[in-house]
Amino acid sequence: MQTNFTEAQLQDPDTARANQILRACVHCGFCTATCPTYQVLGDELDSPRGRIYLMKDMLENERVPDAKTVQHIDRCLSCLACMTTCPSGVHYMHLVDHARAYIEEHYRRPWHDRALRSVLARVLPHPMRFRLALAGAKLARPFRRLIPDARLRAMLEMAPRRIPPVSRNDDPQVFPAEGAPRMRVALMTGCAQRALNTDINDATIRLLTRLGCEVVVAEGQGCCGALTHHMGRESQAHASAARNIRAWVAEVTGAGLDAVVINTSGCGTTVKDYGHMFRTGPLAEEAAAISALACDVTELVARLELPEGAAKGLRVGYHAACSLQHGQKVRDTPKVLLRRAGFEVVEPADAHLCCGSAGTYNLLQPGISGRLKDRKLRTLEAVAPDVIAAGNIGCMMQIGSGAAVPVVHSVELLDWATGGPRPRALSE
Ligand code: SF4
Ligand code: SF4
Repeated sequence: MQTNFTEAQLQDPDTARANQILRACVHCGFCTATCPTYQVLGDELDSPRGRIYLMKDMLENERVPDAKTVQHIDRCLSCLACMTTCPSGVHYMHLVDHARAYIEEHYRRPWHDRALRSVLARVLPHPMRFRLALAGAKLARPFRRLIPDARLRAMLEMAPRRIPPVSRNDDPQVFPAEGAPRMRVALMTGCAQRALNTDINDATIRLLTRLGCEVVVAEGQGCCGALTHHMGRESQAHASAARNIRAWVAEVTGAGLDAVVINTSGCGTTVKDYGHMFRTGPLAEEAAAISALACDVTELVARLELPEGAAKGLRVGYHAACSLQHGQKVRDTPKVLLRRAGFEVVEPADAHLCCGSAGTYNLLQPGISGRLKDRKLRTLEAVAPDVIAAGNIGCMMQIGSGAAVPVVHSVELLDWATGGPRPRALSE
């Protein structure tokens, strides 16, 4: 695609990167075939190619974004299916991230949008605040039909019925390896899942220590910054990311680290991108080093060689989180591990398509998100699983809010298969 940025504009590294990405696009439109919002809405401007044109026009002309452009960019899930499909290697993620930051800086949203986004950005990344909000949502849920705003209703509907007690495993500490240590790894305990489902980190720690890892929960680590990053709140996202980089670099230079392990794939995609986010700042070298150490928990378990398990007689419907399959290109590893552990693994026909969760998307765009959820539930039900497994808490909550069978994290099944307790969702 031809672009017309001026030399002065290209002095800005983010604009220079946008220019590079735009020039790679040959407007072939292959990406529209796998874009969930184009499939649901059928509007070219809700496809990757349409959004690329809108972003080009906005950035090149340094336009104040108009409501229509913002609406189409807001409707993008950042699922990155378009990046998997694109034959020209267009890095849509960096382009839309930059466009979102540009919109945040130059567009004044209606007051209720600003208020809602501000509350989400202030609450979700902080587990204790999020717990309080969930407790409030539980009390308000019976009155949800009286609330006129669909987004607020969606939030009340998404709030889990059970809020787990705080897990002390999420506090900074070191878990020794069982037997001779093979690796020393930092576990990112995250933010939302510390309030929504503490079993995931507990199972991860048991599994990794059993496989010979010393697991460190580093002092000072917290939210990866993804939630605010996807809302275009760059300074808030960068502050969260910088805290994590410093916390893990302290471990690297201290007792050393072989990996930074992430069990929420949405966060994993962001941590793997820290090198890009900080490429022009004073933390560039440290951020690149942390990104190089970052891996999804299933990538690490594959390196540790999971013992083969006997057949469990349990049919697992594997839901591939977009951030894992498109963002990190981790596609087969979770399925290979589950099969190796003794589970039968089946997949829905639309495995490449988003379930509609996408960070805060299901709260901010409940209409489109609901349609994608219903579609995913139908295709999962069609393969008749006993249990559904995913590698991302957002997908687990989204699918779990409508599925007729239990929904667990893949790591809970791997932990169970290697000597851990039966996942709570299966017992209930
Ligand atoms: S598939 Fe790639 S090159 Fe083709 S229109 Fe989409 S982003 Fe552009
Ligand atoms: S990230 Fe997903 S929703 Fe957004 S344009 Fe690409 S395929 Fe469509």
